[in-house]
Amino acid sequence: MPTPPSLLVVAATIAVENAVRYSIAASIGWFGVHKLLGKKLWSRKVLQRGPDAGQIRREVLWSMSSVLVYGVVGAATIGAARAGWTRTYWKIDERGWTWFVASVALVIVVHDAWFYWTHRAMHHPRLFRAFHRTHHLSTNPTPWAAYAFSPWEAAVQAGIFPLVAFTLPVHPLAFLAFMIWQVGFNVLGHQGYELYPRRFLSDWRGRVFNTTTHHALHHERFVGNYSLYFQHWDRWCGTNLPEYRARFEEVVGRGAMSAEIGSDATSPRNA
Ligand SMILES: [Zn+2]
Ligand SMILES: [Zn+2]
Repeated sequence: MPTPPSLLVVAATIAVENAVRYSIAASIGWFGVHKLLGKKLWSRKVLQRGPDAGQIRREVLWSMSSVLVYGVVGAATIGAARAGWTRTYWKIDERGWTWFVASVALVIVVHDAWFYWTHRAMHHPRLFRAFHRTHHLSTNPTPWAAYAFSPWEAAVQAGIFPLVAFTLPVHPLAFLAFMIWQVGFNVLGHQGYELYPRRFLSDWRGRVFNTTTHHALHHERFVGNYSLYFQHWDRWCGTNLPEYRARFEEVVGRGAMSAEIGSDATSPRNA
């Protein structure tokens, strides 16, 4: 049996892999939506202005710092898995495809809870400055803000790796599928453009899933709207901002309004 790579190599590999995934997802959001479709979709820009000077550079640099932390936490978790301390399994046949697919969904739901409660805790005045202020430097985030965390917050976010490994039997490929969902949704939350259909909040979809407007409001207000993928924690805990629905309706209604009055009132200025 070949010797497995050293944990240092594993850490570097996880960091690079996360950097690549982040870069692909944020590039789609930035070059695809902001640059290519930005003018056309301008009415859907939640905050009607572009990013501040130096903002993207800051978001990318902090995101790169975060992937290094993910590498360290990920390698430590893999070290624990090699020692047989985790519930990670390596052969899909051991538990079959039904569990494989279910485990991806389960990890997403567990991560949503982890994110909500740690995020809410990091908004406590005693923790905010050290942990979470870096992420909130962007009040009008771009897709590059997806991993823009202080190293302390990055370590908390990376806590999902050991949490899952130690408690759930999850195959590494199922975890990879979760990570693709995670970065995709994370970029969508920081997209700045509301891309969801107009009626999204009027049916079950809006009762289940969060929108870009939901997280954009969190970055504007610093309180409320703490959840990541799903609505349930903010609903159960009464932490949805009361203006969420009205703001969503306003953003998705702008296009129709400007078409009606035939004005270019919502065209980009400093995008
Ligand atoms: Zn954010
Ligand atoms: Zn926050």
